[in-house]
This record gives sequence, C-alpha cells and structure tokens, in this order.
Amino acid sequence: MTINEAQTTVPAIDWKRRGGTPAAPSNGRLRPLGLREVTLLPGFWQRRQDVNRSASLAHIERWLERAGWLGNFSRTPQERRGREFADSEVYKLLEAMAWEFGRTRDPRLDARYRSIVRRVAAAQLPDGYLNTNFGRPGQQPRYSDLEWGHELYCYGHLIQAAVARARTFGADELVEVAIRAADHVCEVFGPDGLNAVCGHPEIEPALVELYRVTGETRYLEQARLFVERRGHQTLPDIEFGRAYFQDDVPVRQAEVLRGHAVRATYLAAGAVDVAVETGDTELLDVLSRQWRATVARRTYLTGGMGARHQDEAFGEDFVLPPDRAYSETCAGVGSVMLAWRLLLAEGDVRYADLIERTLFNVIATAPSDDGTRFFYTNTLHQRVLGTEPPADALMPRAASTLRAPWFEVSCCPTNLARTFASLAAYVATSDDEGVQVHQYAAATIRTALPDGRDIGLRIDTDYPASGRVTIRVTDAPDTPWTLTLRIPRWAAGATLDGVAVAPGHVRLRRRFQTGEAVVLDLAVRPRLTAADARIDSVRGCVAIERGPVVFCVESVDLPPYVPVEALRLNPGVAPVDGDGGVIVACRVTSLPDEDWPYPPPPGRGSDVDSVSVTLRPYHDWAGRGPSTMRVWLPSTVQ
Ligand SMILES: [Zn+2]
Repeated sequence: MTINEAQTTVPAIDWKRRGGTPAAPSNGRLRPLGLREVTLLPGFWQRRQDVNRSASLAHIERWLERAGWLGNFSRTPQERRGREFADSEVYKLLEAMAWEFGRTRDPRLDARYRSIVRRVAAAQLPDGYLNTNFGRPGQQPRYSDLEWGHELYCYGHLIQAAVARARTFGADELVEVAIRAADHVCEVFGPDGLNAVCGHPEIEPALVELYRVTGETRYLEQARLFVERRGHQTLPDIEFGRAYFQDDVPVRQAEVLRGHAVRATYLAAGAVDVAVETGDTELLDVLSRQWRATVARRTYLTGGMGARHQDEAFGEDFVLPPDRAYSETCAGVGSVMLAWRLLLAEGDVRYADLIERTLFNVIATAPSDDGTRFFYTNTLHQRVLGTEPPADALMPRAASTLRAPWFEVSCCPTNLARTFASLAAYVATSDDEGVQVHQYAAATIRTALPDGRDIGLRIDTDYPASGRVTIRVTDAPDTPWTLTLRIPRWAAGATLDGVAVAPGHVRLRRRFQTGEAVVLDLAVRPRLTAADARIDSVRGCVAIERGPVVFCVESVDLPPYVPVEALRLNPGVAPVDGDGGVIVACRVTSLPDEDWPYPPPPGRGSDVDSVSVTLRPYHDWAGRGPSTMRVWLPSTVQ
C-alpha cells in the first residue's frame, strides 16, 4: 500500500533552518522533516534522547580519549591504538554531536565538536587522504587491504558527519575535510582509477548524501560506480565467502540480504540512495524485493537481523535461533537506515512498521537506562547468568550477557548516539497534500507544505504504555489538506475517533480547524504471537507482544525454584496487563537429570505446578543485574 502514486520532487530546502535531517533524497513519495520541525516531548523516546545528549555523548568522548582512538589523529604510527576502523567511531560521535546541535543549538556541545574536528583535520594529508592506520612509515600502504582495512568505510562515516554538520550549521572545517576526502576517493577509485570496492560498505550512502548537500554529481557517480562494482569479485575470497561483504553477486541480481548484516544493510541503503537520485526504478524495485524477502525470512521478532555469530551475518532462510541471535545493535541501525530510505521512496507502510519494531526492540534495548552501557548483540534467549563487565575495561568480545561500557570493537555505542540524536526525523514526513505520521511519540510538528501552507500538530500520548494518541491541530491553513496516520500491522481493533480503522494508512482530508483533535486508539493490549513453522528453533513456542513491544521472561521475576527453562506457557489463558508487566499462565515442568538427553516422546505431560508469571518488556531486560531470559516460551499446546 502506498500513500499516493505521484512522485514528488523536493524543492531546494533550507535544511539549516529546519535543523537538518539524515537522508534527504531529491525525489520520492515522501519528504523528510527536519530536527527543528519535529520536537519530541516527554515520553518513551524523549527520555532516551535526553539520556543520549546528557550522558552517552560525554561517555563516548571519554572512552575515545581513554582508548586512544581520538589521540590517534596526532600520534605517530608506532603509537597508534585500537582496531583498523577506530577513526570511524570518532566520526560517528561527531555526527551525533552535529545532529544534537541542530536540535538544541547548545554552544558547549558546539565547542566540544569543534575541538575534536581540529584534531581530525590536522591529520589530513595534502591530497585529501585521511586514515590513522595506513600509509605512513611503518604502516601498510594505502588501499593495500581493501577487504579488511575499512579505509573507505571510515571516509563514509567522516562524510556522514560532515553532511550532518552542513545540514545543521553550514560549511565548516569538517565539511571541508570531508569534501577533500571525497575528491580524493573520486580521484583514486573513479572510472579510470582502481577498480575496487571497500570490504565494508558505507561510502555509498555517504557519497550520495554529500552529493545532495553540494550538488556535485561526481560524488553521485562515484557512489553508483561502487554499487555497480560490488558483486564482481574485486575482493579476494575469504573464510566466510565473498557473500560476507556482498561481493558474491551483483546488487541487481541478489534476491535477499546476505552476509554480514551491517555491511548488507548499509550497502542496500546506499543502493537505494543511488537508485532514487539516478531515477533507476529497476534498481529500486530490486532493493524493495530484497527487503521484503529479508523481512519475511531472515528477521527476528524483535526486528533484529543477523543469526550467525561467526561472521555477524544473516543465516539461511528461517535460520533464526533465539539463543544464538547475533542481532547486532548496528544491524538494527542499518535496518532503520534502509527502511527509512525505502519509506521515503515508496511510501509503503510496511517500512514504517519495521522501523517501529526495530526501534522499540533493538535500538531501545541496547543502551542501559543511564546511557553508559550497551549491548552489542541482542540475544532473544539467555541461558546462563552473565557477569557484570567491569566499568573501567574494554570488553574484548562482542557477545556480552550484560551491557558493557565499551568494546574493543565499539561500533554500536556511537551508532546509537547518532540515531538517538536524529530520532525525531523518523516520526513524520510531508508531501504536496499534507503530513504523514509514521511513529507515535509525544511530539510537536511544525512544517510548511511546498506551497507555503503552515501546518502545526501536537501529539499527546504515553505510547507504548497505552495506545491512545491524541493529535491536535495547532496551526492549519484555511484550505483542505491531508493528515495521514499509520495503523500498525499488529493493531487489530484500532479506532480513530471511535470508528474502526484497519492496519495500513488512514487518510483524513479536510479543512482542519486550529485546535481540533483526532483521537487514535491503537488497541495496545497483550497478545500471543506464534512463529512460522519453518523457523524450527522456535517451533511449538509462543511469544508475548504488547503493541510494538516484545516481552520476555527473566529469572529475576521467578521464584528461585522455578527455572526459566521449566516454563510452558498456556496459550489457552489470555495474557493480561498487571504487576508492571504482562501476566501469563504457565505450567512448570520437571527438568530430568538424565545422562542422555534424548528420551522417547512423552505421553501425557509431566507438569508439576501451575504459576502466574510476569513478563516484562524485552528492551528492559538485564536491567536488574544478571538474569536468564527467554522471549519465546514453549507452549503447553504443541
Ligand atoms: Zn556494532
């Protein structure tokens, strides 16, 4: 389902006045709004955005200093610290700061941003090359390790940071650095240059975004070249196979996202950007099909992507084991980037549905309440109690049973920071006819349609605690316009002003009066969810969802004599709200202590007890110390 069939072209937009936005395509079904056009009010997301601003940014900056990754820009090659892609974490922090500045115009934040930019700029070489890990005496030569070196990936995040700054402030030192780097990339990897791609996509969406900022078509052409080159085996074969970096088949021939999940989503996001800007509808259709196949067969209930730890990668179709879910936080960010671009291009409600699921169950899950500890992976089933990572040490491994302050590969905290700082951009869009609300959060929206008509909305809601959303018109033209509201796929029984509405979009076209309100009730209540039988690892299990939020059972909520793995959920008893969570009926089965775990099939069940069990939102899990946890519970009916 699409909002309307007409392509709308974005007129030249003064993004600085609007507070900037991530991904600003020049055409498509929907136009993004800026970070000063949508303001989050107190509620679920504003709290997280505020913690990001007040705690996470400083936490990240401290760790970048402490781990030496910021210092790398002024260190000798022999003293360089951190992994080969450590520069990119500095750039992602700069991007987060730039978006945050767009929203708040905080001068202290601006000063911190500028001091980091000075250090970065000092390391750029006269020809535009900038990377602390290659090219200097004692280091490997430039571009000698494209499969693992991440040089172009790092430029990608540098450019994304500069794009954020250009859209929220205007040209500055970082923008100049990024343009010099982009020009250098075009010189080295252009049509007559190295016929190669980076092992980690990211330069592709960045170059298209820089084209959108500068109008320099050379950047768009370079991004298109990188997209078209991939899949032609310019990278060497590796132990995980070339699918790991999507170099197995050309983008246009692939049917589904595969390989490393962050690489796959970043590449697809960049390819959507290229398709939109070059008018390549064939490529856009291919990516839309890949997205649908990936969501249908390779995505966790949480929206998480990546079922394999070994290579942080998608598994085969329906290989989605909950206890081995990798579901990297960054893959959640990449999935939102991709779905957002497809939503802007095509207007299909399904993209916004997946963004909502991913935001509430991956993005909201990863950080601790205080914004200083993070999940890298997001398992759906924790079998053993974890131990608290030390507050003053880098976690050596991605896998962690509790949130950790920093990692040797610390891509996820900085990716969260830039996402939270720009979160308001995902709430709503506009087109020639009016405004579309995609995500429900307490917020104000003030924008002007292309014909100059001003529209103001105020959204009041405690969503997702309840499904009641009041949308008040605070500024309306005296001519008809269209307010479009997304009805999530899960929202059976939803009503608008008391009238039943079906999942999809509901469009209200009329001459709204200033001060009038519409009331949406999304019927948020606990519900049982099953899985496709081909997802063998959860066959016979059920999960509990409530609105957009996935729930889980944690051992800290159970009596000591009831282990999580002994629970069988009785789907015959409807789950109800209560006890600060959702209460379900469970049977407790005995857990045999045999020397061989494969007995004959049971006859009658061996239930020993029945209990009421409280499930809590998955995004809060492990917030009360070590715990075992399950999202999917075996059903008593199998
Ligand atoms: Zn990550």
